[in-house]
Formats: sequence, structure tokens, C-alpha cells
Amino acid sequence: MSQPGPPGSGAAPAGLQAQNGAAAASGAPYSNGPVHSAMMSSQVAVHQGYNSQLPGSYPHLIPAKTLNPVSGQSHYGGSQGLEQTLHRPPVAANVVAPSLRSGPVPQMPAPASQSPAATPRPSDDFLPGVSPLPPVNWQHSYPSMGSQMSHYPPPASQLPLSGNTNVSTNHQYVSSGDPSLQNSYVKSGSALPLRTPPLPTTFQPGAPPGPPPVGGPPLVRALVPQKASLRTAPQPSFSSAVNQEGITSNTNNGSMMAHGSYDEIEGGGFLATPQLATKNPQMSRSVGYAYPSLPPGYQNTTPPSSSTGMPPSSLNYPSGPQAFSQTPLGANHLTASMSGLSLHPEGLRIVNLLQERKMLPSTPLQPPVPNLHEDIQKLNCNPELFRCTLTNIPQTQALLNKAKLPLGLLLHPFKDLVLPVVTSSTIVRCRSCRTYINPFVSFLDQRRWKCNLCYRVNDVPEEFMYNPLTRVYGEPHRRPEVQNATIEFMAPSEYMLRPPQPPVYLFVFDVSHNAVETGYLNSVCQSLLDNLDLLPGNTRTKIGFITFDSTIHFYSLQEGLSQPQMLIISDIDDVFIPMPENLLVNLHESKELVQGLLKTLPQMFTTSLETQSALGPALQAAFKLMSPTGGRMTVFQTQLPTLGVGALKPREEPNHRSSAKEIHLTPSTDFYKKLALDCSGQQVAVDLFLLSGQYSDLASLGCISRYSAGSVYYYPSYHHQHNPVQVQKLHKELQRYLTRKIGFEAVMRIRCTKGLSIHTFHGNFFVRSTDLLSLPNVNPDAGYAVQMSVEESLTDTQLVSFQSALLYTSSKGERRIRVHTLCLPVVSTLNEVFLGADVQAISGLLANMAVDRSVTASLSDARDALVNAVVDSLSAYRSSVLSNQQPGLMVPFSLRLFPLFVLALLKQKSFQTGTNVRLDERIFAMCQVKNQPLVYLMLTTHPSLYRVDNLSDEGALNINDRTIPQPPILQLSVENLSRDGAFLMDAGSVLMLWVGKNCAQNFLSQVLGVQNYASIPQIRTDLPELDTPESARTIAFISWLREQRPFFPVLYVIRDESPMKANFLQNMVEDRTESALSYYEFLLHIQQQVNK
Ligand SMILES: [Zn+2]
Repeated sequence: MSQPGPPGSGAAPAGLQAQNGAAAASGAPYSNGPVHSAMMSSQVAVHQGYNSQLPGSYPHLIPAKTLNPVSGQSHYGGSQGLEQTLHRPPVAANVVAPSLRSGPVPQMPAPASQSPAATPRPSDDFLPGVSPLPPVNWQHSYPSMGSQMSHYPPPASQLPLSGNTNVSTNHQYVSSGDPSLQNSYVKSGSALPLRTPPLPTTFQPGAPPGPPPVGGPPLVRALVPQKASLRTAPQPSFSSAVNQEGITSNTNNGSMMAHGSYDEIEGGGFLATPQLATKNPQMSRSVGYAYPSLPPGYQNTTPPSSSTGMPPSSLNYPSGPQAFSQTPLGANHLTASMSGLSLHPEGLRIVNLLQERKMLPSTPLQPPVPNLHEDIQKLNCNPELFRCTLTNIPQTQALLNKAKLPLGLLLHPFKDLVLPVVTSSTIVRCRSCRTYINPFVSFLDQRRWKCNLCYRVNDVPEEFMYNPLTRVYGEPHRRPEVQNATIEFMAPSEYMLRPPQPPVYLFVFDVSHNAVETGYLNSVCQSLLDNLDLLPGNTRTKIGFITFDSTIHFYSLQEGLSQPQMLIISDIDDVFIPMPENLLVNLHESKELVQGLLKTLPQMFTTSLETQSALGPALQAAFKLMSPTGGRMTVFQTQLPTLGVGALKPREEPNHRSSAKEIHLTPSTDFYKKLALDCSGQQVAVDLFLLSGQYSDLASLGCISRYSAGSVYYYPSYHHQHNPVQVQKLHKELQRYLTRKIGFEAVMRIRCTKGLSIHTFHGNFFVRSTDLLSLPNVNPDAGYAVQMSVEESLTDTQLVSFQSALLYTSSKGERRIRVHTLCLPVVSTLNEVFLGADVQAISGLLANMAVDRSVTASLSDARDALVNAVVDSLSAYRSSVLSNQQPGLMVPFSLRLFPLFVLALLKQKSFQTGTNVRLDERIFAMCQVKNQPLVYLMLTTHPSLYRVDNLSDEGALNINDRTIPQPPILQLSVENLSRDGAFLMDAGSVLMLWVGKNCAQNFLSQVLGVQNYASIPQIRTDLPELDTPESARTIAFISWLREQRPFFPVLYVIRDESPMKANFLQNMVEDRTESALSYYEFLLHIQQQVNK
């Protein structure tokens, strides 16, 4: 609001911050003055956003209170002796290096300007290649690369922040507290010659690549020499952005690494070749954003096939493979004939959906099995980790266009797994495209292997000839790398830009009056105390805490202190870090102080009357504190930020919620995105926990997590007493969050066989260069999706492969690479393409595309596009595959659930119309679509419904002497409910047990442990463990569902009067609602369109 486009706001060095602050002071309503202005205000403008128009919507709206004037700074109860307020005179001499900001102010392009009016047939935009219009509307909603690239923090500016505090005496800060605690704090100005960072910060993508320093320190060896030289080609976008900011080189000379970026380490594909870089300087700026209008990477590059002496796409090598008993990856790969017959005759059925409406299987829907020779398929990647929307890849883009189905991948790359880990000094990769050796390469003979992505023939290194598993020499094809589609490598030092970072966890707590009212702090601090020893890490783990309201509070946890020391920074316009070395401390050395702080923190602010929220400045402070190391920042926020940079204004108009064009799905400021990009550049990811009963503009706030590869959690109307449902949800999710595995300073690249091309990416990350995803943190609950196209005919190709490589630092400080490789057959007919369609993956990818479409165009456009995706593909099937035009709605068996899943998406919170969904809830649902692995996205969209009052052992699973009933999955319609039963709905993160009014007494007493229906509490989140077979079965089934996922879905027992009942009924996707069609009506609509 106040600063729509503050240049370099978050990224700026200290001097820039000051200037930034000055700018704010001059033009914005917030004064840069001393603490009193905000803290002393007695009238307390309560920024409640809207409240009156929504009766009952926000159960615990905090009434606007008239608060008493506060005197002095000692208004926090319980913290006497702990705190200091750091008064800081207004900084006048902060005009530092104005030239750094002389460039044009990067602006977020207004996505709405990509006019939906220019897209008469939104459906076309789903399918790259068929659209007569610029397909920009389906691109990732990131603005142009140019504006992103210019926000990298200049490397030097970060360094002083890690320096000590007693360097000079520019400014003095006098404590108002106990004199013994008085300290002088020095702001290390940007001109200070602090050039002794603890860690070399060579992550700056902005650093001009330059020739690799030959004589540099041997911390990192140069990669393959040929690679290093490739990278001497300038990267236009980075360089120009850097030059624009007047920064010419990385100044921490001496610690400069051989590699300028991860791109070099992970190694580009063809895109990294110098020919391409010079031929098409636009490439690195634009790929991944506006891809289809640009020349595809592979197409423009001559594959280095000369050394192979073979046609690049030839897979017929009759002599070699047999000698090594490797399965020939040639013409025999198909199980059936080229007609695409799969093993299951059912799969060949043509279904008339108007006659057969009950197509939902009674057991969980399984992904289709690729039509490959079993020897290949048994080595293939698990579809839970890596799957494709089409398991039969069309051999040309024209064929893909005909099918009108989207081609893309869905990934869950860091899922919790026990993996084979290879420790070897040589990681065998293709010298040309840098693909990791995998089960789908072919060995020409003992000494040569042929890449399955670019077809280059590579030498087998001597070391690889020995198999550590079998202890046999001369069987390279039996090495674990060639026997596992998913594998993890210990990465040698070539894969590091700096020594692996320690695990660093910084917690940032909102402690405003509003936050205190929710009572969340108690719960979160307790959870932290409980899980402190379970935080992933090692002896190097660091931890720190920041709290904020209208001011920012730091906590010195220096070893030797008897108790934590609170430091208050009141100048939020020019945030600085007091004593940085004592704020992020070694968890093991300072554990008692940390525990002490967590115990006292909830009480420290109970009398706080401060209603303002300086979230933006607090995030800036947190970023500065973390930038020397990187790590994970966890932010708890309970309201709309009101002070300083990043302040926001309420803009939800409750009466316009239903109007698709009015809603605000785009950020209102680019502050959070810019700061996120700064964070990304310093390997900091920001996870946001939003616990708010009011509109908090998640569309803007969420950017901080989205672009820094963080996660968003949302607990609307959290209150420690009034909303036990949210309390338990936060408790369980926090437990998972704190203890789950984490990868630091990660990057991910996806490669695919020559001829295929990857463009738009979906998920939380930043596209660092062309196709390298920057993931400051990676967590096992994050999913990603990518769209692909067929750039070159695959006519001579029978198999294609996709490989994702995730390079990360484990919490134990190891550098690791996790590689997944998926292999799929290529087909030449439309029927085969349809037969291999993976309807869940298609629905998941379409959902991701529809989120982008909602943001760049409008919600109604996105909805139209979803519907048209069904209409177009089924029309194509009808006109091109079906020989006789039967009446009805004829669909291939593989797509029998396509209309149902799309209808479910239309009714999902992200895309539904009507006034039921609050804006932040909708935004959160969209965040979930983008960030969830497919399996949970599908459960959220189309939950599984079971009847559980009559569970039996028939067909039950037996696992470890446990009998687990397997009730059939029911269609989501109230037709299937009955008042004399009890029904369990599994919606992924939530389980809902609805108990009918006339439910059998047996179930009430034997499972719920109550006398009668009236005794079921309004809110209940557990089942008693009773000594009855009914109880045992029910609990076994629910436990089994929970064991299927890494987080703990909370169970809600729902009776007719329960507030959760509406949620339960909302998921009845097949039923008609006020604003949406029933499934049958939807089918009729589709049929009408298809037969047009
Ligand atoms: Zn290759």
C-alpha cells in the first residue's frame, strides 16, 4: 500500500534500508520517529478489516477496545529485567550509494492486464500448441523474469550483518532498562569493511559467471572442465540485472568459489551450451515463464551426437545389450501389440457415462501401469514419486494436440523414504546432458553406456566397473545406480558452493494484542518445547527467536547468560540487528536458555495492548539475521500487517465474493515477493502460519513462502478456547512440521529425453536460471508439477525418460542428490494416447493450471477452462477414435472419472463460486493445489467416503496380526448416506465421522461409548478405545488410514447439529448445490457440448 514498489526493499543492504525507510517516512503515513509514536498511541486503531457485514462468519472477532494509554516501554508483563528498548535517533546520514538504486523500479505486471477478453475459448489455453492465441495465460503467474532477477541482494551487503557489533560507533542505543544490561549497539553501515564472512557467500546468481578462477582456493574443485568452460557464456538476465544495480563483482575475494551458481554444479542440459546462449540470449530470461512463444531448448541445439556415430534416436543396437543380459530396451518393450492393448481388457472398454454413472471404484484408484516390458516396468519409478499425465507419450505435438489432454509430470520428490544411498567418488553422468546414469540407459558393451536422454555414448569409469553390492567386477549394469529408478547419492565437494550449511531455525512470532487474544503462543511454545530435541539437525543446529508487534524484539541467548535478554528495536523503518552473533545460537550449547525463553514467552505479552503489526520490518530483520547462513524461517501471523513496509489494507468485499471478477487473487504489493526472492538468494525459506479470524490478505502474504520455497499453513479463526478444532489441527501439524525431514540449500532440475521439452513449473520455488528450481528448503510434504510439450517428433523413439535430480544439504550436514527416473513408451495413435491417460495426474495438472489461470485472468475463465478440458478431450475421442457415433457420452475407460474429478475441482474451495468461501480460504486452497503432492490434492478434491457402522472382517487386510477392515468407497452423494448409519470421510488432512440421527445403538455404545445420540458432544475429535470388536475395527481402520500419510489427520465426530456438518456435506460432489450442477447435470452438459 504505502510503497507499491519500493526498489530493493528487502534486498537492500543496511544503507539501502535506511534510505528505504526515509522514503517511507516522507510519503507514507508511518513516521520514522522514536518508539513512542506507535507504542504510546492510546486510541488504538483496531485494524479489524471488515467485521460488521459478516454475522457469524468470524466467531471470535475481537471487539474494538478502548485501551488505556501505555506508559513507557515496560508494558509487557512478566519480562522485567529482561528487556531493553533500543532508542535510536532518526538516522540522517543514511544516504548511501544512491546509484545502487538508480535503475528503473521493477514492477509486478498486473496479471489482469493479460486480458481474458482476448481468449474466446479458454479451453484452448490448456493445451500448448493448439491455441491460436498467445498461450501466456496458462503460464506460471510469475511476472517476467526481468523484474525478478533484479532483486538479488548484492553479496557484499549481507556480510556486515554477520559481523560483530563493536566495530564502530556510528550510533548509540541506550537501554532504558537495568543499567547493567545497557549496551551500545552499532549499526554496521554498508561501508564498513567487514569482509570476513564465516561462510563464503557465493550463491549470488547475480555474480557474473566469469571464467572459473583457476588458482582459487581448493574448497571446490572445478567440475568437469568442459562444463566450466561452457559457463563462461554470459547469462544476460543476471548480468544485466547486476549491472543495473552497479555491482560489478563479488567482493569477498579469497573465498570466491569456483562455481558461480548451482546451475554449474547441477549442470545444465542442452540449454547450457554456449551455442544456445549466444544464439538466443532471450532464453535464460524467459524460459519457464512464457515458454511456448520461445524457441524450445532442445530444438535449437544440435545434439552432440557426432561422437556416437549413430543416429541420435536409434535405439536398435542388436549386439551390445545381450552380452550383459540387460533387458533390451528396443522393440520388445511393449507388452502387447502396437495397438496399445494393455493387460487389462477392462481398460479397453468404452463407457457410456450417462448409463454407467457409478464408475467410482470401491477401492482406491490406482495409477495406470505404463505399457512396458515387465523387466523395464519393474525398475520404473514409483508413481507416488513421479508420474506423467499420459503414460503413453504421443510421438508428435500434433498428436498431443489432437488428444486435447495436457502433458505434464507430477512429482513428490522428497517424500519420506528409505533409499539406497550410493557413496562413491564418481557419480556417473552423461558428459553431454548431465543425466545421471539410471536403469533405462543401455550398455553397448562393458565400457560404454548410451544416455537415454540425449543418446550420447559415454565411457564407463573404471570405478563403476566394480559392484559394491555383489562385489563383482565387470558388471556395471548391476550397480545400484542402474537397478534403482530412485536413488540417493552422497555428493562430493564438486556439488557444493560452500561448506554445507548448518541447520538454522528462526521463529518469528506475532505478539500483538490480537495474537495474544488467540492464545496461540502458549500452544506453539509448548509444542516447540516438546519437540526441541526432535528438530532435525546435529551439533551445529542453530536456533533463534524474534517477536514483534509495532516494534521488533530480539532475544539474546548467549551462552553464560542466566536468562534470555530481550532487545527491542523500535525503529521499524530502518531495521538493524543488534548483537547478531547472540541471536542465532547453537541449540545444544544454549538449550537451557532456549527452553527458558519458550517457557516465559507466552506470559511476556499477556498484558500487551499493542494492536499494530509490523510484519514486514520483522521479516526484514529475520532475513538479515539469517542471510549469512540460510535456513528456515517460521513466521506466525494473526492479522493484517499494518505498520512499516509490507503494510496491507483490507480489500475483501464480502458482498462481492461470488463475483469472479472482483476478487483479489493477486498480491496488492510486491514487497513479500521481493523479500522472498532475497531470501531465496540467501538460502532462506519462509514458512507462514496464518492464524487469523479476519481477512489478512493471504494473496500478498503468501508470496513470502511461495517464492522462497516455503509452505503456508492457515488456521482461520484460531482461538485457544473457542475453536478447539483448529487448536488440535495446529498442534498436530506443528508436530509434523517441526520433526519432519528437511533439506537445505537445495536445487532441483528435471531433464527429459531429447524431443520433449519442459516448460511451466508449478509449486513453491523460484526458477533460478532457465529450468533450475531454487529451493532454499525442501520438505517431504511438498509436491510439484510441470507442463511439457513435444518439440521434436519422437517417431524413431520407442521409450522416453524423465529424470529429476534434487541436490540438497541434509540436516546432518551431508550434501546429497536424490534422483528419480521415469520411463514411458511412445505411441503413434490417438487411441493409445487415450488408453494411457492417467486421470488423477491430468486432474492434478489441470488444477495447477487453473490456479494460474484464476490469477492471471479470472476465476470464471479458469472454471471455463476446466470444463472445456473435459469437453475438448471427449470431443476429440468421439470424433477421432470412435468409429460409430453412438448416442450417450462415450469415454475411454481411462477417463471414466475425468468429468467427476473436474466437477469436484469446480466445487473445490479454490474454484467454487458462491459466497461461501472467504477470500483467504480460497487463496489458501489455491496454495494447497500448487504445493500438495497429487495424492493429497486428489483426496482434498474428491474425498473417500466409507460406511463404518457395519465394519466387518470380510476382505480385511492382515498386517502384523492386525485385522484392518476395508469398507468399500462410496460415491459422494447424500443418496449413499442414511440416518441409521455412520460414515467416515477421508479428505486427506481431515477425517470426518458423520453419525446419523438414528444410528444404531450398537455403534453409539460400542464405538463412540455414549448412551444415546444426544450424548455425542458437539465437538469431538477422538474415539474411545473400548474393549469391543466394533471399537477395535473402527480404530484399526482409522489408524490404518492415518498410517498411509506422514501427517496426522484430525478426526472430527460430527452430528447433525455440529458446526462441521456443513463441511461434510460440502464434499458431496455429486449432489446439486445452490450454485453448482449435480454430477448427472454436469454429464448432460458435457454431452451437449461434445455432440455440438
Ligand atoms: Zn545425455
